[in-house]
Amino acid sequence: MKSKDILFRLSPDYKNQFVDIQKTTVNLGLEFQNGKHTITTKAVSIGRLEYINSMSLYAELSFTYEFDAKHKVLTICGTDYEAKESMTLTTFPEGTAEYCHQGYSKCTIEDEGSMCNPNWNYNTQMTPNLESLFVDVIKEANNTLIETLQNIEGLTVQIKTSPPQLSPEAYLETLLVYKKGEFVGIYDPKEDYGDDYSFKSIESVWGGEVTFNYGENFANVIGSSHDPHIGGKSWIGLWQAQYGLATTCTSLNYKGFHCNVSSGLVGGHVILGTVALKEPAGSDSVYIMPICTAHNNNDNVYMAALQYVKGIWLKNYLNKQTVMGENNNAKEESLDYAKH
Ligand SMILES: [Zn+2]
Repeated sequence: MKSKDILFRLSPDYKNQFVDIQKTTVNLGLEFQNGKHTITTKAVSIGRLEYINSMSLYAELSFTYEFDAKHKVLTICGTDYEAKESMTLTTFPEGTAEYCHQGYSKCTIEDEGSMCNPNWNYNTQMTPNLESLFVDVIKEANNTLIETLQNIEGLTVQIKTSPPQLSPEAYLETLLVYKKGEFVGIYDPKEDYGDDYSFKSIESVWGGEVTFNYGENFANVIGSSHDPHIGGKSWIGLWQAQYGLATTCTSLNYKGFHCNVSSGLVGGHVILGTVALKEPAGSDSVYIMPICTAHNNNDNVYMAALQYVKGIWLKNYLNKQTVMGENNNAKEESLDYAKH
């Protein structure tokens, strides 16, 4: 993949008797490498600190991405998603290590043992409102990044977000049920589950949003015999909580397939590619897309992202789960496996 140039705004215009900061931009040539990487832009002077010998103030942006080169899937944090890997604006007076790292909800300094740097702190009354202007900078930068990535042809973009709020009833219908660590289906309030079962919350498997390439192929995840197509009715609610009402099949009439949209849509569990699989080997990612029941019940056709390109991204829930208290069994099983 060729490198991609992105222009970021690094700072606002801000001037009072203590600091003089100008709106400044920085260009980043981004080239994706397989694996997880933290990118930092060039540090650029954004102005002067009048209160301390007119020292030059420098700024740089940094963020972390993860790239699966084989499947061409790139993962970054969403805007307002506070994590170590999120977009950060770091400012520091030239030649010093007095770093201030701005996140969406807070500013931290390099020295975790103290409250503030000796000279450079902007969340004080000396520079009213500057912190919120810096927050605007990282929001704008992250939105620019997301927009750029989503426009790269051939790239699937996963964006880490927090799950949406669901009603208590809808929430129960997203609980995942495991028996002896093996995924067996979606929680059914009418079912009487025995001691062998365990449950996982949606929060523990929620990845965020995914944006497919327009026309990208995907196929069904084949569930267990207990729940062959993984509780589609309730999962459409999750998709709609994130994106609004779904009105048609994502893969409407693709390759001459007869969709039955009028009999209702489901939140189909799908994977990238053209082959329906039970266990999406080598991938942590399963996506939810609105599809018709005809598509959901047919594992012999594959689909394409035509009517919608945005889906829900779930991670690591069809893989075998280690249940607390069963660790020893799991170890024995894998040892047995290795022997054969
Ligand atoms: Zn369809």
